[in-house]
Amino acid sequence: MVGAGEEWNSELYRIATAQFDRAAAVLELDEEARARLREPRRALTVNFPVRLDGGSVVNVTGYRVQHTLTMGPTKGGIRFAPDVSMGECAALAAWMTWKCALLELPYGGAKGGVRCDPTALSDEELERITRRYASELIPIIGPDRDIPAPDMGTGEREMAWFYDTYSQLKGYAVPEIVTGKPAVLGGTAARPSATGLGVVQIAEAACEHLGRRLSDKRVIVQGFGNVGAVVAEELSVRGATILAVSDHTGGIHDERGLDIPAVAAWVAEHGTLTGCPLGAPVGRAEVLELACDILIPAALERQITERNASRLRCEMVLEAANGPTTPGAEAVLAARGITLVPDILANAGGVTVSYFEWVQDQQKLVWETVAIQDRMRRLLRSALDRVVETAERRGVDWRTAALVTAVERVSTAALARAIYP
Ligand code: GLU
Repeated sequence: MVGAGEEWNSELYRIATAQFDRAAAVLELDEEARARLREPRRALTVNFPVRLDGGSVVNVTGYRVQHTLTMGPTKGGIRFAPDVSMGECAALAAWMTWKCALLELPYGGAKGGVRCDPTALSDEELERITRRYASELIPIIGPDRDIPAPDMGTGEREMAWFYDTYSQLKGYAVPEIVTGKPAVLGGTAARPSATGLGVVQIAEAACEHLGRRLSDKRVIVQGFGNVGAVVAEELSVRGATILAVSDHTGGIHDERGLDIPAVAAWVAEHGTLTGCPLGAPVGRAEVLELACDILIPAALERQITERNASRLRCEMVLEAANGPTTPGAEAVLAARGITLVPDILANAGGVTVSYFEWVQDQQKLVWETVAIQDRMRRLLRSALDRVVETAERRGVDWRTAALVTAVERVSTAALARAIYP
């Protein structure tokens, strides 16, 4: 017989589960509570026809997984990538639950994905895919049910199509159905840079906590997309030295520090870092092993593994991506005394500003960008304080402390609501 929840089994899901189990053990949660919190509540698979520009029709598969329904509506991004699976969405949905709980946002976690290669599709094809996927999700989404947002391979443009499709079906504008929309449609100007800026705000707070100064740090950033490029820019503005950056094709390196605005301008013109003359070329895996103070994986999951963990030469890993470090690698880093700032804290700025966007849309009020960024900073700092306090009180690492804080909040809420019926 196939076990319960086999549908979302995947390597990433097993990592999320192993992390959850570690926190549940610290909290001494009973098996009933663990079973209730560990697995997603809902998972929808959709498979829909899309006409390509050449006239042919292909079937496209998409998912939406909602992990916890206890805390309010669910929240989380939608990724477009060639290897998206339900198992991957399930892991990422669980992390969204813990991320929202750690930040004390009134959401459970969700994640969706469409299995496609956005780089191989035209704008028109992507629009047809986004709109059809949005209408396929109608039975389970809504401003008070589940609110999507951008993730890998999606951005403001896709959110605008999603919003428009939903609004057409309702017959009136419903901006609060998605976050990460263009500002002119009720999005917030602070959202596109929020995840990256949040990573830097957490880096600042973590350095302060450890008695160090961010401006003295030598940093390497893996990933130069929505998150990585903002991280590199905001860090260099704060005086940190960016030694290397990479994207999915490769990277560049300069021991004296890269001129990040010039690199960003080069990438804006050429679309990739490959061939960029502003540093010596370096491979995208190799970049992780260069000596630095802070290593920031800001690209894909499972980049730091048992294979390369012993070769990292940094004092801190700051997880801007979701799930970039495997549990085996984490043990190696811990044994080597490398501090790990976990994803659910480090990259929580994105969903925090999404929350502000959703509140503004519901209230029909517009907040100022500086007020949003300042509010995000305060929420992130108090989340970091909670993590540090829990780590010290319970004698655990920061990832376990972050998860313990989050799992404790959700399990308390679940207990208060009891089991229905
Ligand atoms: N996809 C982002 C994340 O992983 C943001 C989700 C959101 O804003 O709802 O945190």
